[in-house]
Amino acid sequence: MELARRVLNMEESITFAAGAKAQALKASGRDILSLTLGEPDFVTPENIRQAAQAAILDGRSSFYTPAGGLPELKQAIARYFETFYGYSVKPNQIVAGTGAKFLLYTFFMTVLNEADEVIIPTPYWVSYADQVKLAAGEPVFVQTSEEEAFKVTVPQLEAARTSKTKVLLLNSPSNPTGMIYTPNELEAIGNWAVEHDILILADDIYGRLVYNGSQFTPISTISEKIKDQTIVINGLSKTYAMTGWRVGFAAGSEDIIAGMAKIISQTTSNLTAVSQYAAIEALTGPQDSIEIMRQSFEKRLNTIYPLLEQVPGFELIKPQGAFYLFPNVKKAMALKGYSDVTNFTNAVLEEAEVALVTGAGFGAPENVRLSYAAELSTLEEAVRRLKVFMEK
Ligand code: PMP
Ligand code: GLU
Repeated sequence: MELARRVLNMEESITFAAGAKAQALKASGRDILSLTLGEPDFVTPENIRQAAQAAILDGRSSFYTPAGGLPELKQAIARYFETFYGYSVKPNQIVAGTGAKFLLYTFFMTVLNEADEVIIPTPYWVSYADQVKLAAGEPVFVQTSEEEAFKVTVPQLEAARTSKTKVLLLNSPSNPTGMIYTPNELEAIGNWAVEHDILILADDIYGRLVYNGSQFTPISTISEKIKDQTIVINGLSKTYAMTGWRVGFAAGSEDIIAGMAKIISQTTSNLTAVSQYAAIEALTGPQDSIEIMRQSFEKRLNTIYPLLEQVPGFELIKPQGAFYLFPNVKKAMALKGYSDVTNFTNAVLEEAEVALVTGAGFGAPENVRLSYAAELSTLEEAVRRLKVFMEK
């Protein structure tokens, strides 16, 4: 039987594929160090796990919830916006769902008609383009440059704009580059979007994982007009070490949020109830473990960045947030005789036993991605192996 074209035409998530390959090699006995999946290596803080356990034991998690999430969860999310964004959102402007990833997809399904265009600054997180295509839209890639710290500019956006442009995707801090847009940059981009009536999809999932004094400004806080034009996507996976619970949320215009909740009501029905109780505790309970994890990522970044800089042929900009390093390995590829970054990544895996993610999946054919959400000792050993590999 032939599968549907939408599946035949899409790629498997390259981050998940790289993670699975590293896992399989490890299971076969190979000593692989995996810096693939962007996933905190910490278990979910205990207070959150206990709240989930209590919800299971007293039976609260046994039932469906409203499609967009429990009222108590929406209240907790509203408080999160008040605290970290400084504005209030009403419950009907909030939807919770099965991970930020599924909410992004739900958003595209809600707003895109066939051939509507979504501008995606490149390098981009692996899932955006395929999700847009699944929703029958057209991804329009705008190449950013390392000289501009991988940040898109208004002239670049203007050059990409057509009568079909419906959405601009903005991911700050960025996966994979770790770059953060400044308030001035956001103001210029936001005003451009407002002027041309282009929706801003702000993927703020790494907003609380920023380092060395860097500040994250959400684009939706720049002005009332820009806020009205923006849908914020966020989630608990990264900040709260909760990838397995699949908690994401979105906030913005009532119409779009209602559309997203409608899709949820016809697909997953609701975010798993036990995860909602865990999320309420995460958002409203003690926050000290969050800062401890953030500091630990910061320490890893500050340790590993200067070491990676010394690997022959690896050139990189110091990230400000998220938990990835994204070196340009053009020179490293040339030194080892590779012209294709995926082949280079495979050679690193085979010969150095370090699993990285090829930049190809991020629209960056000269880069590789390393996640530093791993033990310091693992990171140090991985970079040592990379250096040995490059010096051979
Ligand atoms: N956006 C970005 C930029 C990401 O890196 C991720 C990775 N998990 C997600 C969204 C999705 O996160 P989740 O589905 O775990 O909430
Ligand atoms: N977002 C993480 C990453 O980029 C987790 C995997 C995924 O969702 O793609 O590695």
